[in-house]
Amino acid sequence: MKAVRFVGVGQPAQVIELPTPEPKAGEVLVKIGGAGVCHSDLHVLHQGIGINHPFTLGHENAGWVASIGAGVKNWKEGDAVAIYGPWGCGHCHSCQQSFENYCENWKPGQSYGGGLGSDGGMADYMIVPSERLLVSLGNLKPQDAAPLSDAALTPYHAIKRALPLLTPESTAVVLGVGGLGHMAVQLLRCLSGCRIVAGDVDDRKLELAKKMGADLVVNTKSTDEAAEQINKFCGPRKAALVLDCVGVQPTVNLGSKIVGMNSHFTIVGLGGGKLTMDGFSIPFGCMVSTPYWGSRAELQEVLSLAQSGRIHAEVTHFKLDETPKVYEKLEAGQIQGRAVIVPN
Ligand code: NAD
Ligand code: ZN
Ligand code: ZN
Repeated sequence: MKAVRFVGVGQPAQVIELPTPEPKAGEVLVKIGGAGVCHSDLHVLHQGIGINHPFTLGHENAGWVASIGAGVKNWKEGDAVAIYGPWGCGHCHSCQQSFENYCENWKPGQSYGGGLGSDGGMADYMIVPSERLLVSLGNLKPQDAAPLSDAALTPYHAIKRALPLLTPESTAVVLGVGGLGHMAVQLLRCLSGCRIVAGDVDDRKLELAKKMGADLVVNTKSTDEAAEQINKFCGPRKAALVLDCVGVQPTVNLGSKIVGMNSHFTIVGLGGGKLTMDGFSIPFGCMVSTPYWGSRAELQEVLSLAQSGRIHAEVTHFKLDETPKVYEKLEAGQIQGRAVIVPN
């Protein structure tokens, strides 16, 4: 089979031939129908994330069960599934609550999951180590649903934590309307009655944000001008939630200028921007957090929203061989919504 490999920091992804793996006891072999192209892969390719390589990229995956190892009970060949991405130990306190994204037994240097240290879904087939990491897709097609497992699950988890603050007269601000951001706008629209502002440096992305339900879109090239415009829209209470889906210095700076007292400043983007904090540098009571991905139960919730047509990922499909070029396009800001690699 063909696979897209991370071969070393600073080197482009490589498409190579590999033997098709076979599932051992407890494992499931999934035929990949879609693998989303996440900006985190660019961080992996450029900086690495302290994990061993080579491995097959693609951590946002969906497909069909191809074969099952001994002891797998709940799945059969042909079942359409989303693959839950953050692989925990399965039995610590967090994992018991399905928050494998916060597994207590994960250690730095260890794989985060398929595509992030273990072989992922940018290949014809992928091994999933346990049947508990699969969620039924129902009526959704793998090539369209793959981004839900990360681009939607990550903002869903972040927004859910802020929901009590997102009352109808409050405002949530999404910074960066890429893969995660375009899902965040839709999730805010269907989960809360709050007003939604979307910021990006690219007007095409802002057009998409409007289509997804943003009340106000703001070009954030000038941080000061954007802050003024957003603060005027929000009123004295400022933003109840700033969801930074970029995490670079300009968005972290902007976020700290628009976030309100007793609010959430949630940074999911991994752009390396720093926030200096003391008792007076951000508003009193503001909760700053850097959540990671989401839980297995939350993935079911996200899929349920998509199954009933309340959210969808705007996707562009590409062939597996095109992946290195797709990474270049993503880096150049030329992908609207999410690019999805379709191997099968
Ligand atoms: P993407 O490339 O699809 O989207 C990024 C968007 O940010 C683009 O629309 C781009 O125009 C915009 N942007 C760039 N610079 C900007 C700036 N200065 N101000 C405003 N907008 C700007 O990326 P993505 O796949 O949505 O990922 C976004 C970030 O989230 C990445 O850093 C990724 O690694 C991270 N991420 C984190 C988690 C997590 O669990 N914490 C999960 C997935 C992705
Ligand atoms: Zn990702
Ligand atoms: Zn665990």
